[in-house]
Parts: sequence; C-alpha cells; structure tokens
Amino acid sequence: MNAPDKTTVSAYRPLSLIDGEWTSGGGPEEAVTNPVDRSVLGTFAHVTEDDLARAVAAASRAFVSWRSMPVRTRVQMLERAAQLLRERGEDIARTMTLEQGKPIGEARFEVERAANLVSWDAAEAQRAYGRVIPMEPGLQHTVVRQPIGPVASFTPWNFPLSSVIRKVAGPLAAGCTVVLKASEETPATACAAIRCFTDAGVPPGVINLVFGVPATISSYLIAHPAIRAVAFTGSVPVGRHIGALAAQHLKPAILELGGHAPVIICADADIEDACLKLVAAKYFNAGQACISPTRFLIEAPVYEAFKTRFVELASKVTLGNGLEPTTMMGPLANQRRIDAIVELVEDAKARGADVLCGGRAGGAQGTFFEPTVLENVPEDARIATSEPFGPVALLSRFERLDEAITRANSLPYGLAGYAFTRSSRAAARLTEEVECGMLSINHLWTGTAEAPFGGVKDSGYGREGGEESLDGYLVTRLVSHRAA
Ligand code: NAD
Repeated sequence: MNAPDKTTVSAYRPLSLIDGEWTSGGGPEEAVTNPVDRSVLGTFAHVTEDDLARAVAAASRAFVSWRSMPVRTRVQMLERAAQLLRERGEDIARTMTLEQGKPIGEARFEVERAANLVSWDAAEAQRAYGRVIPMEPGLQHTVVRQPIGPVASFTPWNFPLSSVIRKVAGPLAAGCTVVLKASEETPATACAAIRCFTDAGVPPGVINLVFGVPATISSYLIAHPAIRAVAFTGSVPVGRHIGALAAQHLKPAILELGGHAPVIICADADIEDACLKLVAAKYFNAGQACISPTRFLIEAPVYEAFKTRFVELASKVTLGNGLEPTTMMGPLANQRRIDAIVELVEDAKARGADVLCGGRAGGAQGTFFEPTVLENVPEDARIATSEPFGPVALLSRFERLDEAITRANSLPYGLAGYAFTRSSRAAARLTEEVECGMLSINHLWTGTAEAPFGGVKDSGYGREGGEESLDGYLVTRLVSHRAA
C-alpha cells in the first residue's frame, strides 16, 4: 500500500458520539480489518447499556429544540454538512476503501452521491407542506406534517457512507433526532460522515452514533419508549426481525432489504451496450449491492451473443487493492461473504450448473472472489433463489416475454429490476408487470437523490429519496378549527 495509508491507519480510532461528545464506549474492544490483506486497522469500543440510555436521553432532549428551530437554520446546517462531505471527500473515500475494500473511484462516487443526498433532503425540508381542506364557512381543516420524534437507525457495511447519510439527512431535515448504529465493520467511515454534521453546527444530541452488538442495540433502542420510528438497511432475515420488533412496539419502520434483481434482455436490445453496462454494474462494489443485477434472462436468439460478450468482459475485470487506480474490483468486505458465495457456487455446480468464468475465491491474503458467470443453474440450486450479494451472474434463456416476466416475478424479492429492449410495447408491459420497487430500462440507474429508493414484497417497505424522502419521519395531523 501507499505511504499515506500509514497516516490513516495510525490515526484510526473510531468513537461513538453521545450527547455531542466523541467517546470510547465503556464496553469491549472490537478490531476492524482491511479486507485487502486482513490486516488490523485498529479497534473501537462497544457502548454499554448506560451509554445507550444517555444517547436516547440526549436525542429526546435535543428533539425539543431541533424541531422548533427555524427550517431555514436547519437547512443551512445540512447544506454546510454536504459541503464538508465534498471538501473532505478524498479522506473519506480512502477510509471507505481501507475498511470495505471498494475501488477508490467507487468510493469517490459514493461521496459525491452522499453529498447530493444531503442537499436533496435539505431542500425537501422546505417543502414539507401541509394543506387546507375546503369545508364550510367558518370551519377550516388544516393538515400539518410534523417530525415524528427520535429515530433509531441501523446501517450496513456495503455502502458505509451513503447508507449512513440516508439514515441521518432525512430525519434531520424532517426535524427528528437520531440514534444511529452504524456497521461495526466500517465505523470510521460513519464517524467521518457524522463529523461533517457536527462541524456544520448540528447541536449536541441531535445525532448520536453507537457501535456494539447489533441485536443488543436494536432490541434496546426499538423497545425504548422515547424512540418513535425505526429505519434499517440490511438483509431480509434481519429486516424481518427488526420489522417484528418495531411492530411489537407499534413503531413505524422503513426497511430497505435485499434483492435478487432480474435483468431481461430482449432480442431487439443493443447487446454490446447492454453487456458493457451490465458487466460494470454486476461487479460494482464486488456485487455487494442490494440492487446488483443477478438473474440474467436472455431471449433465445441473442443468448449466445450476449453470453460470449458478457463473459469476455467479465474475465477482464481486474481484481486488486482498491487504492490502486487500475483495480476494477476490490475484495469482498469480509470472510462471511466468501464463505457464503463459495457455498452457493459449489451447491450450484453440484446440481449441474456450468461455470463460464471465475467461480473461486482467490488473491493472496485478502477476501477476494473472482468475477463469476454461471449458466444452466437449476431451479433447486440455492443461488437461484437466495441473494448472492457478491460477484456472481446467473445466465439463462427465455423464449417469450410472458415467460421472462413470470420468472422475474417468481421470487419473494422485489427491489430492483432491469430490462434492455428497443420496443416501446415491451417496455410498457415490463413497466406494468415486473414486480419491483425500481425498474431501469436500457440503463443501470444508481439511486439518485431525486428519485424514491425502496422495494416491494420481501425487499421491504418505505422509501428514501425523492419527494417521499421525509415521509417516514413525519406524522400527518389534522387541526379542525371552527371560528368562535
Ligand atoms: P447480516 O444479515 O448479519 O447483517 C446485515 C446488516 O444488519 C449488518 O449491517 C448488521 O450489522 C446488521 N444487523 C444484523 N443483525 C442485526 C440486529 N439484530 N439488529 C440490528 N442490526 C443488525 O448479514 P451480513 O453478513 O452483514 O450481510 C450479508 C447479507 O446482508 C447479504 O446477504 C445481504 O442480503 C444483506 N445486506 C443487504 C444490504 C442492503 O443494502 N439491503 C446491505 C448489507 C447487507
């Protein structure tokens, strides 16, 4: 690695933030490793139950003044935080690559996207309008939207910056405070993100950041009477658990969960264009994205042409240290992902799948897995129905669009879906019939601030981004006033 990493590593000490104080939690220490060579970057301390109680108390106290602050003042702080994210972008990107492994170019892209998300939510704060309902002379119904209260948020390691930003900017813009448990695998990225808000003037207690045992923290926070809403990004099984806890305590939740995205390639598509875009998207973040294209359904007449070109391009994806500019794909984030993908690929092979390229864990010391393409994956192979969350593409043929749509909709997931076609008729059918929260036709959309992000079916509920961005953090109230 380059010399500047040493500086970053020697300074590595992620802290929790409770009531405006950066502090080592009082609990056990946990090490964070760099997936490129499994070296230890440093350690951080878990919070204790007392720390959690202080964090919730701080979020409750701060809510009173934060919600009453003039919207314009809140917005100015958020805009300043977005500016700080951009100014500190290079350091934050390097921290992300060290902790998570993604190529530095992707980390920079994530910084830019994160800053845009903050700017968008800041603007939405100024548009959280209510309405007046026409009734009769002397009677007025006014609908007002007000912040719901302190929010408990939980974010994963795959997009360690943008997921933190989504879970902080929306609530803050709405006038809520937050207790955030960010991923224990990427804690320094979360700290750097939150520092942009505190340095922008966001007062103590408005954002609290904690690390520890995820299940212990989520059980404590979700059950706490002062917490009024829950937001989680992660796997379907954990999302089901978080959603059940929230329901038990009658708290609304935003759940942004996994996917197993179908890609329908019609015979009339521009195959070269589709292959270039899809290889880039499939191996982006080493496939560790909930919207990663995974099930490639290719119309029979173009199957061989698509397969040949896709495999050719996938074989050229270079693996390496994310800090090297030539690296196209970094390591997977941790050994759990390697174990999970090895198991899924071996299971598929044992059931008759063919490996067209990749298929093995590799690299010297790090947690690398080769860009992989499988075909003839039988329906009973686990990877056919379980999210691989890694660099694996599954290719299969279809004869008719009906069949492709039925197969696309056959899983309980419904997050992203993709299609390539020049036919407006086919596009209209896909728009109508593919069951997913986000459908992209002829390109790969990457979750921009302006548009709502979220799933249907087991991929969760609630939306982040777009004009829906603050909905989960606002309550709608009616004030009915008869002139006395
Ligand atoms: P996991 O299911 O154990 O954890 C996923 C995330 O949830 C992690 O950030 C973890 O810290 C958190 N978590 C786990 N248990 C929790 C609990 N009881 N309370 C609160 N938070 C909890 O799996 P993992 O090995 O970390 O990730 C692998 C799987 O997670 C993948 O297969 C993928 O499906 C899913 N995932 C999805 C996304 C996404 O963007 N939707 C992000 C990361 C992981």
